[in-house]
Amino acid sequence: MSRDIAEFVRKHAPPNEGAQVRLNHCKPGFDNRAFYVKRSGSVALYHCFHCGIKGRVALADDCYKYPKVPGGIVESRIVLPSDSTSNVRTWHPSAAIHVLGYGITQDEITNFGVVFSARLGALVFPIVDRDNGLIGYQSRRFPPVEKGPKYVTKIKPESNRNFKLLKGDGKTSNKLIICEDYLSAIKSARVAAAFACFGTTLTICPADLVQFDEVYIWFDHDNRQVISKELKAFSFVRQFVPRSKIVKIGDPKRHSTETLQGELDLCL
Ligand SMILES: [Zn+2]
Repeated sequence: MSRDIAEFVRKHAPPNEGAQVRLNHCKPGFDNRAFYVKRSGSVALYHCFHCGIKGRVALADDCYKYPKVPGGIVESRIVLPSDSTSNVRTWHPSAAIHVLGYGITQDEITNFGVVFSARLGALVFPIVDRDNGLIGYQSRRFPPVEKGPKYVTKIKPESNRNFKLLKGDGKTSNKLIICEDYLSAIKSARVAAAFACFGTTLTICPADLVQFDEVYIWFDHDNRQVISKELKAFSFVRQFVPRSKIVKIGDPKRHSTETLQGELDLCL
């Protein structure tokens, strides 16, 4: 969808729920108003019966926000330590066992930019924007330490949107899985597009959501706070993608590709 179409649709979208307008798109003349724009919640649906283009545009632009970034550090310059490497054979064994234990492959580790830094003593998960720029990262200490936080998240100021979604080898999907952690997103990217919100650090923007027909909120379910987090995410997502669902079978990274696929094959 081009930016122009989105602008055009946003400008003409009717204010009332369910209302529809007819406009000219690719053919002039009063009788050729075959471009329909209909309002559905926070989304405008458009369809041109001349050229056939159709799609959805998010009418709201704001991301939902959680009250704070847990353990988050806002930093203007994000640089990975120079000894960072995605070659699992050179990682600290506990980090390698952690990642490979979920059935994640060396190719996935390389493709999705997971690295280990001995200097940091941590596994590092990148936070990347749509232009492939590194705008933050989450690190997890390996080997685990007694003192200090397990996870540290660093992110550039104002980085609250335009995150890159994870997609498996050139696969396109009309389904999106939103997970809590990066390894779960890597596993999920085998069967759909995926997004890791790193606990509650990142939120996804409406313009990204409307590209999908179905959205799955698939969190870990390892504590009670997760329920309020997922409900908040769900009520936000549902405004833009009515076919959305909370999945409650636990941590995506612990499931096989078949189970992940099976969950998506159940009709919403
Ligand atoms: Zn047209």
